[in-house]
Amino acid sequence: MIIVDLSQVEKHYRGVHALQQLDLQIQQGEILGLFGHNGAGKTTTIKLILGLIKPSQGEVRVFDKNPAGSHAYQIRRQLGFLQENVSFYQQMTGLEVLNYFAKLKGCTARQPRDLLAQVGLEQAADRRVKTYSKGMCQRLGLAQALLGAPKLLLLDEPTVGLDPLATRDFYSSIDALKQAGSTIVLCSHLLAGVEKVIDRALILKQGRALAAGSLSELRQQADLPVNIELQG
Ligand code: ATP
Repeated sequence: MIIVDLSQVEKHYRGVHALQQLDLQIQQGEILGLFGHNGAGKTTTIKLILGLIKPSQGEVRVFDKNPAGSHAYQIRRQLGFLQENVSFYQQMTGLEVLNYFAKLKGCTARQPRDLLAQVGLEQAADRRVKTYSKGMCQRLGLAQALLGAPKLLLLDEPTVGLDPLATRDFYSSIDALKQAGSTIVLCSHLLAGVEKVIDRALILKQGRALAAGSLSELRQQADLPVNIELQG
């Protein structure tokens, strides 16, 4: 079942063509990697799916509805979002942070503790966020994004600034979500750690879809600008 459908989408910001003629379908249960260098249009794509911005032309459908239209709130509740370098109230513990967001989302009381365990932070649940490493903060951000059991998880450069060990830990949580059948869009300009979890990749260059397919298919295309990383 297709849960995200972008059709001939254009997004212009005052003379900048952030996206051009973009077609993108995301199937339920797949992990899509959205790759491209800085400015390629990855965040713009995520914002369109979240309904934070509207396309200049073309159509965006999420769960068969316009995410920036009258059903925006209903759709937004089914989406989990994590951005790069997320930060939380430093004086609160990890559990307090999650409890706070759980109340806003109307989740069950049990969910925050379960989610902390799911991302490997159960031992740090009662420690203040100021004592967390960057990797732990990103995993807390992942737990927050998972509150309310979203049907689609959008991760925008989630491992930027993390060391290889923290990146590996983060992607092992993503791998567990994959095994549980989650649908995830993962934006990155790096392939390190991502190869094992993604089913399909879309490469953006200057707002256009340059290539799409499995990583093994894309590795055959020597002319791709990210091919050096793909080979790596
Ligand atoms: P990065 O990895 O640097 O975040 P990205 O692939 O996510 O890059 P976008 O943030 O989607 O790229 O940006 C695509 C293009 O649109 C860039 O040229 C960017 O400068 C431009 N852009 C994005 N948001 C705005 C805005 N609000 N106003 C003007 N230009 C914008």
